[in-house]
Amino acid sequence: MGHTDTSIKAAAQMALLVDYFVELRASSPNGGRRSPTRSIENTAPLNVDTLSHIRASVREIKEYVDVESPGTVEPLPKDDAAVYDWCVRNTDWDDEALTRRRDALMYRQYLEHTILTGDAKIVRRHRCPGCGTLSLHWRRSAGSAVCRNRNCRTPDGLASTWTLAHLATAYITDQESRQRRAT
Ligand SMILES: [Zn+2]
Repeated sequence: MGHTDTSIKAAAQMALLVDYFVELRASSPNGGRRSPTRSIENTAPLNVDTLSHIRASVREIKEYVDVESPGTVEPLPKDDAAVYDWCVRNTDWDDEALTRRRDALMYRQYLEHTILTGDAKIVRRHRCPGCGTLSLHWRRSAGSAVCRNRNCRTPDGLASTWTLAHLATAYITDQESRQRRAT
């Protein structure tokens, strides 16, 4: 098996980012020395330009495989978006906990790529891990999702906020239990 639903999603968004970067670079009058700016500027959750985001994402996947599957001999693919299939191929365990962590990592990157390409509304399609309602909104300044349900509060009385990593883990865990119920 070379891919999962999550790796396909992550790869598609990565490809979109790569397209953005390559396209902007090509159209830049001074040979692409400036960072990509277009829609990314308004929604970027992280203070990095697209290329360094892509590089960091690939590096994170590579480091993950190095640690979890140290015997991997297959070299990293040249195509950045192919890194997720590569990851799945080289970490194809029969271990639920490991698979869940891997899929949550890829899904978190999928969310990051999606937000970076301008679609911060992606977080609204995820249920709040605190109250289970569709009340999440992306708060760019904080780089996290905040729940707008007034009854969903921290012990200090503040609005619940969630990192993308937390949302990703919640999503993958939920998917898993759905699949289990369906079989
Ligand atoms: Zn909530």
